[in-house]
Amino acid sequence: MAGYFTKLMRDLESPVEVRRFGSGWFAGFFALLFAISGFVMVVALKFPAVFTTPELQIVRDWAGFRTAIHVMLLASYALALLSLLLRPRKVLGLTALMIGMGAALLGGASVEADNARGWGMFFGIDFFVVNLLATGFMYAPLERFVPHRREQRLFRHEWREDLFYFLVSSMFVQILAFLSLAPSQIINANTNSWDAFRAGVASLPWAVQFITVLVVSDVLQYWYHRLFHQVPFLWGFHAVHHSAKSMDWLAGSRMHIVEIVLLRAVTSLPLFTLGFDAAVMQAYLGFIYVWSSLLHANVGGNFNRLGHWIATPRFHHWHHGLEREAFDVNFAIHFPWIDKLFGTFHLPEDRWPKDYGIPEDVPTGYGGQFLYPWTRTGKKLDEGSGAEPAE
Ligand SMILES: [Zn+2]
Ligand SMILES: [Zn+2]
Repeated sequence: MAGYFTKLMRDLESPVEVRRFGSGWFAGFFALLFAISGFVMVVALKFPAVFTTPELQIVRDWAGFRTAIHVMLLASYALALLSLLLRPRKVLGLTALMIGMGAALLGGASVEADNARGWGMFFGIDFFVVNLLATGFMYAPLERFVPHRREQRLFRHEWREDLFYFLVSSMFVQILAFLSLAPSQIINANTNSWDAFRAGVASLPWAVQFITVLVVSDVLQYWYHRLFHQVPFLWGFHAVHHSAKSMDWLAGSRMHIVEIVLLRAVTSLPLFTLGFDAAVMQAYLGFIYVWSSLLHANVGGNFNRLGHWIATPRFHHWHHGLEREAFDVNFAIHFPWIDKLFGTFHLPEDRWPKDYGIPEDVPTGYGGQFLYPWTRTGKKLDEGSGAEPAE
């Protein structure tokens, strides 16, 4: 079993020569992607009380939803067969075929819901799939056609770790939202006297409310982020995010779960307590998600001027740079002028960092990284690749 899994991973990560168009790799990859997505959706439909996200009810109620799953599973079969035909290595096609058959055995797209009751908590695996497909289909083509590092692939070093982070934050979306919203709820329950102020905020034009939310939350985020770089114990959490050695849309998901909860609690405080319109809140939450994927994406373009005013991928890539000049710079995620204001702005014209990561030995797996804030020794590695000694 472990050997089989290794074989599968090796084929997914195979070098460009054996995955070019016509080799059956793309057919196999999409067969596997659609098979897993279809299978997960069928499981979610079968056990709705445990695995479905209430916010996605509207998607599941859409008449075309089951048809879409059916088409996805059919496409997966066809692509798996094509891959088996074209590709000398059969592992991708076979795996996709087996997972697709598993989905069919469970009832396929016409699966009946099991009426067992849940226990009031769910794991959003449907959210994971919708999220992954939407973000993947948005950024994978962008990274392919306007890349910063052309040689970097989707299945680059440590992609599995980052995908697992993506899975965890999607699955536990409910519990994460609950924990992050707790501080705002406490404030709201105890500040009835602010109601006139809130009514004033709600009456502002939509665009003004939206921009205000961006500015206020980015200023809070800036100081929160800077604190996590400066306080050694907090750095143990944030080091996990900086341990990524490759940057792409998936790399931004790598974040310690404690940091996610605290970060969201802090940045959403103004959003949920100052009376902003519900539509503004939803737009902001969607926007921040798409935005942070973009900042980490392997997307080129220097934007020397624009980068001084609005955060670009290059601006945030500098925050992740391994070289000394990249340490403790560019904390903002929307507005670089906040960094200018507080003296931490760094965007050398036309240049990108040579390498990404930190000169510190962070464990590679999820478990090791989860414990890292408590196991960290604080010992720095010998500064390698491009880093210059401190003056
Ligand atoms: Zn940071
Ligand atoms: Zn980042």
